[in-house]
Amino acid sequence: MAGMKEAQSSAAQIRSFDRALITGGAGFIGSHLAESLLAEGYQVTVIDDLSTGRYENIAPLVKYPRFRFAIDSITNQIVLDRLASECDVIFHLAAAVGVMLIVDRPVHTIETNVMGTEAVLKAALRYRAKVLIASSSEVYGKGNQTPFREDDDVVLGPTSRSRWAYAASKMVDEFLALAYYREKGLPVVIFRLFNTVGPRQTGQYGMVIPRFLNQAIEGEPLTVYGDGNQTRCFLHVRDAVEAILALANCPDAVGEVFNIGSTEEVRIIDLALKILQLVRENKIVTGAIEARDQVRFIPYDEAYAVGFEDMRRRVPDITKIFRYTGWKPGMTLDQALQDILHSLLGQE
Ligand code: UDP
Repeated sequence: MAGMKEAQSSAAQIRSFDRALITGGAGFIGSHLAESLLAEGYQVTVIDDLSTGRYENIAPLVKYPRFRFAIDSITNQIVLDRLASECDVIFHLAAAVGVMLIVDRPVHTIETNVMGTEAVLKAALRYRAKVLIASSSEVYGKGNQTPFREDDDVVLGPTSRSRWAYAASKMVDEFLALAYYREKGLPVVIFRLFNTVGPRQTGQYGMVIPRFLNQAIEGEPLTVYGDGNQTRCFLHVRDAVEAILALANCPDAVGEVFNIGSTEEVRIIDLALKILQLVRENKIVTGAIEARDQVRFIPYDEAYAVGFEDMRRRVPDITKIFRYTGWKPGMTLDQALQDILHSLLGQE
């Protein structure tokens, strides 16, 4: 009997809400999240202004009667207020993303990230919706004590370098969300996404894996920035979505900050070589033969902006999320690359 009661109460926990609002739901991660929530029986509303999100990402979801889509900015108070009144949980993913965009359009980045989150928290408070806020590993700045733990100190560069505007804006988001939790009792959970990859991610805003894959397929040299010795850990978006859902369903996670990422560290130069090999094995190079198998090193100043500072290493400590939810990554980097390649070739 006791076992049954436990099972019932954990089932009740899992379905503690069933109307979800996803801001930025037409983006790469948001659209995968929307898909998973729909598959689990949720009613899902997406709000996205399609600035970096794409309609194609959510077009296959329109067939679900439980799916709704508002093409609008989260700073449109009237729309956001109505949507917040009709949901139990908000996944706030709308943000200015991608290093290139941040360097090119700092005003847009700061305003979107700070004012957008403020608007979402205000609306959530009005209707007491639970909020999951997407933050970023960028907040760890250039600290080199890896792996990064959620309560580590952060080291940012000077305000004269646009890059740090993104980290600072995400930190303000986190401070604000935690303030709403502490001062007003709003249930919030913050997750810091490390490098996330998968089908539908575009290289348009600088993301390295779709860029390298496209370059390799086209037979162009792979553009490695700096000396290529900088490292990253790439998590498949399917794993990231699982982690976000696990946090949403974990009552103890409220008021806390969590890393979500892979711990499989790879140097960017090795990533480039891995991708060249993968594409070669699959015999799918279509472009110029002479450029094949090549890597072209590009100085940071040329790739981004003069004085650009990159992180040398970026590795998450994921013991906290494991402790709270039992989540850990399921896919290796090789499996993720295979999956992305297949989806690029239309075999998803
Ligand atoms: N990078 C690269 N070539 C590219 C794009 C990115 O070498 O064409 C490098 C970039 O400098 C960084 C890493 O790949 O060190 C990951 O870049 P991305 O923009 O995907 O994510 P970040 O970790 O910088 O947020």
